[in-house]
Amino acid sequence: MLKTRFTELMGIEHPIVQGGMQWVARADLSAAVSNGGGLGIMTALTQPTPDDLLKEIERCRSLTDKPFGVNLTILPSLRPIPHKDYAQAIIDSGVKIVETAGSNPGEFIGMFKDAGCKVIHKCTAVRHALTAQRLGVDCISIDGFECAGHVGEDDITNQILVPLAVDALDICVIASGGFGEGRQLASALALGAEGINMGTRFMATREAPIHDAVKQRLVDAGERDSVLIMRALRNTSRVFRNDVSEEVARIEKAKGLEFRIDDVAELVAGARGKNVYSTGDVQEGLWSAGMVAGVINDVPSCRELIERIVADAEAVIRGRLQTLVA
Ligand code: NAD
Repeated sequence: MLKTRFTELMGIEHPIVQGGMQWVARADLSAAVSNGGGLGIMTALTQPTPDDLLKEIERCRSLTDKPFGVNLTILPSLRPIPHKDYAQAIIDSGVKIVETAGSNPGEFIGMFKDAGCKVIHKCTAVRHALTAQRLGVDCISIDGFECAGHVGEDDITNQILVPLAVDALDICVIASGGFGEGRQLASALALGAEGINMGTRFMATREAPIHDAVKQRLVDAGERDSVLIMRALRNTSRVFRNDVSEEVARIEKAKGLEFRIDDVAELVAGARGKNVYSTGDVQEGLWSAGMVAGVINDVPSCRELIERIVADAEAVIRGRLQTLVA
């Protein structure tokens, strides 16, 4: 057993959080992670309306009696998103763990804290983490440059970001980005984190509600199979390398300072990326995946994965690390 401030705070068995992945983090996956002793986090915006979110939260409750959370991400979008209505739905559902992410979440953090929720804020910079701490969040999930999806604009990897965040903050820190193995969990704990967040690694699990071909693609992929796009718009995203992401990167480079979202809107649309997960055609649109693909070699159940990572981390701490101390 690895007991940390985070496992105590959230009332969970293992210090492993499942990342709030758009289109992937539905009730099936989050419930499986929570049943496996980790913390499952569903994504609010994966559901088409706040009402659908309420139903999906109920579905998650029917699948697990363990704690789980809901992620609300605030970022630029092609279609208007009623973030406040989603936030209200989360509160109305009675869920008591919320993960906020993206820009200017202050208003939402206040709403969730007033409703008695424990709030994890996910961000990519220590200065943003300090602001979130000041706003009253309970925990920071710090996202290193290795991560999938919105990596931020500073490109700081976890080897630097995690110790800096741990030193700067009083609240507990979860290390996110690039994690998928027990020795990495041990390293995150050594850096002072209270646990890890894993997104891409949980995509390659039996319960992830995505096509088997996507899971297999992750097993086959290496650490170089992601591409950064949208830097010119200061909304940098790490996505899986395929024809669509290469084309977006090519257009972005060719347009230079003239690059606008309209130049790639049809290519980057979330609705198109969503099809990848249902059809298994990994070339159909953009889908997020991190460098961790390089260390993903199988498709276990969530419980098997969590138990293996914890056992391997314990073995590293009790074995290799212990024996090195003269
Ligand atoms: P979408 O189809 O609205 O947009 C596709 C991509 O283009 C997204 O990465 C979006 O951030 C970006 N984008 C759109 N308009 C932009 C602009 N004017 N400037 C810069 N970038 C722009 O996105 P979607 O896949 O339908 O997702 C809906 C929202 O959820 C988006 O804001 C997305 O970024 C966000 N999101 C949520 C989660 C989550 O809930 N965990 C994860 C990733 C992204």
